Amino acid sequence: MKLDQFPKHIQPHLIPQPGGELIYRCLGCQAEHGIASLLYTCPDCGAVLLLHDKAFDRLKAVGGETWREIFDYRRMLKRPALKGIYRYHELIGPVIPLEAVVYLGEGHTPVVEANGILQELAGIRFFYKNDGQNPSASFKDRGMASALSYINFLIRGGMIDDVLSICASTGDTSAAAALYAAYLKPHIKSAVLLPHKKVTPQQLSQPLGSGADVFEIPGVFDDCMKVVEALSDSYNVALLNSKNAWRILGQESYSYEIAQDFDYAMADKVVVVPIGNAGNITAVMNGFLKFYDLGVIDALPKIVGVQSVHANPVYRYYSQPAGEGRRFVPMTVKPSVAQAAMIGNPVSMPRVIHLVDRYNQMAGDPRVFFVEVTEQAIMDWQLTANRNGHIACTHGGESLAGLKAALDKGWVAATEIAVIDSTAHALKFSGFQDMYFQNSFPEGFEVRPDPRLVNQPHYVRPAHLDAVPEPGKPLDKDALAAFVEAVAEEIAGELGLKKRKL
Ligand SMILES: *Cc1c(COP(=O)(O)O)cnc(C)c1O
Ligand SMILES: [Zn+2]
Repeated sequence: MKLDQFPKHIQPHLIPQPGGELIYRCLGCQAEHGIASLLYTCPDCGAVLLLHDKAFDRLKAVGGETWREIFDYRRMLKRPALKGIYRYHELIGPVIPLEAVVYLGEGHTPVVEANGILQELAGIRFFYKNDGQNPSASFKDRGMASALSYINFLIRGGMIDDVLSICASTGDTSAAAALYAAYLKPHIKSAVLLPHKKVTPQQLSQPLGSGADVFEIPGVFDDCMKVVEALSDSYNVALLNSKNAWRILGQESYSYEIAQDFDYAMADKVVVVPIGNAGNITAVMNGFLKFYDLGVIDALPKIVGVQSVHANPVYRYYSQPAGEGRRFVPMTVKPSVAQAAMIGNPVSMPRVIHLVDRYNQMAGDPRVFFVEVTEQAIMDWQLTANRNGHIACTHGGESLAGLKAALDKGWVAATEIAVIDSTAHALKFSGFQDMYFQNSFPEGFEVRPDPRLVNQPHYVRPAHLDAVPEPGKPLDKDALAAFVEAVAEEIAGELGLKKRKL
């Protein structure tokens, strides 16, 4: 639709102009720092930062009802810069002019209702939000679109040049970072650090294909993160891990989309997300808080954070009795099929602690919950979901297992409606499906296949035939006819097909 065809009272709001007063706010000492330079931690105390709009209250003057209309009408616009996460420009990056926005097709991922069979098994009505349907096949693209749009804004303003972006990754961060950096060639070069053999072949192929410098190091993600922190402390590089507060800002779009997709009715909703470095749950909480503050939604949904028992430092923290005595203790992780969340010392933990308190306070009662699930449950639920028409990755299985656990604990009621996050596409983690189907999980995973969920290809090669087709060596007419008949018969037999009546 063209601009002049929209209702008159919406027209002035449709195309956002740069505005707001974004600053980095330190979660340790509350200091505020300007955004003209790339900061990841507070120069005063070293704590993590969140971006805060000091002029946020100007947005309240618009009113919740009008905001809902603005976002809904923006759906009809054809401007690429407003087709992705910047539909919510005023909340995602108000200082960024639309010309600097990098849009590669991220965001607005499908919300797919589970079929009757799966809802019955789970014991609740629920939807998958398929964040694997982002350009690099994980939700990390939301944060990268934001971080790289900001860097692009600095480049265009002549404030920085010749950027080397760098990140540590469990696989998906590096795939997304390398993709967006490649698009901004030649202004940005990218380097990624991966834990050797701890990312899937698909994930490794992604930054290689995008032309990034890929470094594999011994150890796990937490070790890579230490090296990247050392590099960003001493060298002139742009850190693209979720320590970078711009990543969080972009990932808040996930919450805005859920609100919009359910017509802003959040009172009976439960949003379930897996937790690794805890950037995602930080963003999800912050997003809903901002929408609530603006009056776009009139209730805060419940949030359930899920961790595997093999990497559950956040769950362990919240299992301690509430109060001053709670201590965060980083842990050594064990092998996990939710490999992108296999993190023992989440960088965003201070943000989580800060936001959980605020969220519960704003809601007036506990609305954020943490559950742990076994590796076995993650695999079984993922495969069950996929057998019912989903494309859930292992973390999507973790979300569903977590929803079930929250129901069992009574934190979620069967009358509520859940939206659960499949954070990546199933294909990225198909190796774990192979291990399950072939019963070849290494001991440490503690996963045993349920025979009802196992599936294998059948090789059909009729034993009585001498000749079968081979590449470059077709059969003659009679041999081919015999081959087709024999194979068709064997397949029909295995499938128990009935002959068509002539
Ligand atoms: C990064 C990632 C996670 C964990 O998200 P955090 O923000 O690190 O908590 C979960 N699933 C997938 C597929 C990921 O790539
Ligand atoms: Zn500080």
